[in-house]
Amino acid sequence: MPHSVHPIDRMLLQNKAWAFERVQSDPSFFKRLSSTQKPEVLWIGCSDSRVPANEITNTGPGEIFVHRNVANLVRPGDVNSSSVLEYAIGMVKVRSVVVVGHRGCGGIRASMASFDGLPATLADWLGSIREVYAKNAAELDALPEGDARENALLGHVVRTQVENLAKMDVVKRHWAERQAPSLHGMVYSTADGRLVELCRVLPSATAPVAAAS
Ligand SMILES: [Zn+2]
Repeated sequence: MPHSVHPIDRMLLQNKAWAFERVQSDPSFFKRLSSTQKPEVLWIGCSDSRVPANEITNTGPGEIFVHRNVANLVRPGDVNSSSVLEYAIGMVKVRSVVVVGHRGCGGIRASMASFDGLPATLADWLGSIREVYAKNAAELDALPEGDARENALLGHVVRTQVENLAKMDVVKRHWAERQAPSLHGMVYSTADGRLVELCRVLPSATAPVAAAS
């Protein structure tokens, strides 16, 4: 396609081709999807374009309820993620919630650099990653600068979001009512496409436990 085609025009054209191909291979595809959605998983991931929830888990439309933001944060008091959680856990009744961080995350990297010149909203958002760093500074400062330190911080950030989830009212309510959802922290590697589970909290547990490998 020539470079002069506007990206939105190209997107609309590709959507047309996709919808056509779907109906060709499965005539009742859209009819089936229109009637209901019953995904079992809520995915909380980074907005990064390299981490598309459905594609990297080989799932299709209707299978994963998705919320994405910069650096996959679940911050207490954030109306956006809180309403997603209320809806997905309370109404859709997902069985599991996964927080997915990824290697090479721009949000994690930016939180470790100077905030000078950064828009205030972004500095505020990334500030909660700095809090995670501060809590684990002894361990992180001892690591060599670069990938090792960044990946260790990423792991702590993901675990902290899972801990935040475990403290939320909607989660505790549904643990008591229906013993769900389970909570999972994962890291995706953009280098080899693999998703690895870091921690898992089952409804009866009170603290994250290491995931079985
Ligand atoms: Zn990211």
